[in-house]
Amino acid sequence: MSKPISVFNGELGKIAKNMIETMYSAPGIGLAANQIGLNIRLATLDLSVGEDPAQLIVICNPEIVTSEGEQKSEEGCLSIPEFTDKVVRPCKMIIKGQNIHGEELKIEATELLARCFSHEIDHLDGILFIDRLSSLKKTLIRNKIKKLAKAGEW
Ligand SMILES: [Zn+2]
Repeated sequence: MSKPISVFNGELGKIAKNMIETMYSAPGIGLAANQIGLNIRLATLDLSVGEDPAQLIVICNPEIVTSEGEQKSEEGCLSIPEFTDKVVRPCKMIIKGQNIHGEELKIEATELLARCFSHEIDHLDGILFIDRLSSLKKTLIRNKIKKLAKAGEW
């Protein structure tokens, strides 16, 4: 569980910038601060992966206000490279939080953006996408990772 952010200073801005660069170079559409080893509730999202500046979202303390429907599609994670699986996520969500200056943000997210928000908020709560799969699938993936790690390939 990542800790809420209460101080909105230049240091936070630097962390966010670092996260955006990490997300773009991965490349990925979302990153949570705990993926780069920082236990704070900060996430960056950009469905355009840097192509369209208007799509960049930097959000502190994101919270799901409402959540509707279900969508199921293939999902991966920068923290679990090479593994993807179908995950059920909400279709539409309203998210609130703060921007990097501590000002209130309210975002309506649908489709892929809703999936991305759900995935990143899960990270902040210590949940990985494989935790949302059946226990059989989760065990299979864990065993594959163990095997790869043993072979020095993970
Ligand atoms: Zn992830």
